[in-house]
Amino acid sequence: MSTCGVAEGRSAVGRPADVLVEYAHAAAEHGRAAAATGEVSAQIPELSRVDPDRFGLAVALLDGTEIQVGDAARPFSLQSVTKLFALCALLRDEPTAWEHVGWDSSGAGYGSVSELETHAGRPRNPFVNAGALVVTDRLLHHTGDAAGAVTDLLRDLGGEHVQRDRQVALSEAAHDHRNRAIAHVLAEHGRLLHGVDTVLAQYFEQCSITASALAVARAALLLADRTGARGPLDAGVVRRVNAVLLTAGMYGAAGDIAYRVGLPAKSGIGGGVVAVLPGVGSICVWSPRLDRTGNSTGAVAAIEEFARLAGWSVF
Ligand code: GLN
Repeated sequence: MSTCGVAEGRSAVGRPADVLVEYAHAAAEHGRAAAATGEVSAQIPELSRVDPDRFGLAVALLDGTEIQVGDAARPFSLQSVTKLFALCALLRDEPTAWEHVGWDSSGAGYGSVSELETHAGRPRNPFVNAGALVVTDRLLHHTGDAAGAVTDLLRDLGGEHVQRDRQVALSEAAHDHRNRAIAHVLAEHGRLLHGVDTVLAQYFEQCSITASALAVARAALLLADRTGARGPLDAGVVRRVNAVLLTAGMYGAAGDIAYRVGLPAKSGIGGGVVAVLPGVGSICVWSPRLDRTGNSTGAVAAIEEFARLAGWSVF
């Protein structure tokens, strides 16, 4: 069953909202068909309990238009989608944080230990786990509660129904040798302000945030607004976050996504992907089955189709 709700107005690319609603439904059909090929993440046992056939798509435009298809209002586990909002919260409090987290692309998976080793324990960017752990650590330093700061930012920007799922956080903590290894390499190189256990506990809490595709699409408008007026970051910082999202937000698949979709985008192993068209709006799709790079097959296919139909591209 699909539902949609549309506010009045035209998008900034001049297309009437009802045409975008058609595109959203067509994109969702395309995404649902592509989702058949993926697998739900087994990395966090609690996440594998999700219904793999869930599918939600939400579009939010700067002019106030909102489009919802399917499970767009149903909360899902954001996982690495939170890394985007954690970075925004940190840059609000520490505009020079880039020097600690890096801004280069990464050819490796999000959980690579060897890449961190190769670069003297310096993360490549804030979206691989090494960089995200540094973001969480520094945000903890500035706020006293990194997971709380990310939750609050998402609530402020995205609206209601932003929660944390304790079972998912505990499940990840009980099974995560890899992030522990990364945190120890960071600590060995003097890149963490807090102890490994403290940083990991905050990071797992942050990753366990749940929100709907609609809330995430709304929240991502802070990156769509070129003036920086929607969130805590000024226009120059917003441009940089979008640049690094384009080159690193989808991990090893970032180049593929830039080629196929042409939008800055961030994924999570809960099956969510959010993409931004600066000056226009954002789209978030949730579909739990993932490809080998840990990106949702259905969400990527739906966003690719929506971008093609609507002419959304930064190029
Ligand atoms: N919590 C997961 C991890 O740190 C998130 C990974 C992801 O969503 N890509 O490994």
